[in-house]
Amino acid sequence: MAVATSPVNGFSVDVEDWYQVADFDAVVAFSDWDRYESRVARNTDRILALLDEAGVTGTFFILTWNAERHPDVVRRIAAAGHEIASHGYAHRLIYEQTPETFRADISRAKATLEDIVGTPVLGYRAPSLSLTGRSLWALDVLLECGFRYDSSVFPIRDALYGLPTAERFPHVIHRENGRELVEFPITTTRLLGRNLPLGGGGWLRVFPYAYMRWGMRRVNREGQPAVVFIHPWEVDPEQPRMRTAGRRGFSTHYVGLGGTQTKIRRLFRDFRFGPMRDVLGLG
Ligand SMILES: [Zn+2]
Repeated sequence: MAVATSPVNGFSVDVEDWYQVADFDAVVAFSDWDRYESRVARNTDRILALLDEAGVTGTFFILTWNAERHPDVVRRIAAAGHEIASHGYAHRLIYEQTPETFRADISRAKATLEDIVGTPVLGYRAPSLSLTGRSLWALDVLLECGFRYDSSVFPIRDALYGLPTAERFPHVIHRENGRELVEFPITTTRLLGRNLPLGGGGWLRVFPYAYMRWGMRRVNREGQPAVVFIHPWEVDPEQPRMRTAGRRGFSTHYVGLGGTQTKIRRLFRDFRFGPMRDVLGLG
């Protein structure tokens, strides 16, 4: 059982559909998204049911392209007491955009979500955690657009993302003119001088649950909150199969899909979770 005095961790869901992931963007054009079977509403409902069963609330970073087609899903998430946050509009990686196109994407994304739920959207998570050393300018654009916190920095080294020298736990990033953005980095644990990824997503699916539990306990023993992220397509073992090698030359997209729900239930049993806004004291 979760110990009552241990830190409350952030639980987060990046609300995108099975064909909208960066691993598939060489074979799935944004202009064709409407041609693929939409499974995001049903899969989001599966996650809402898991949260409800455990009495847990979390943060949903919603891709606004989906919110426009399923505003009822966004309202259901908000009505269940979860935080609504932004995963951008079109799932384009930050470092493949200009500051101008990024600004247009996230300002449309934020305004549309706020129209649907009627409350301010404070948090942002970049598609494929694409806030790296190449795209730190995005922090200023997030501030300009009214975001209060970001959760896109992963303090590891990876071919697609990562900022290995970044701080590991929630902190305030100071930008010019006294402006401040809170960063909730994707969780790592440290072993033999290296940061090991915890996070969720592929790491939760590929590795045994014991790895996640070991790492999160170490983080919480440091007195720090972790953040776990998952995607609706990760609780959907029946989703269509796409033939592609992914951006790294391999893809973990279909690995361990059948075990995700069990692992989430175990996380909810072993740790305390809440919306990231509350963990950061921005609620
Ligand atoms: Zn995503």
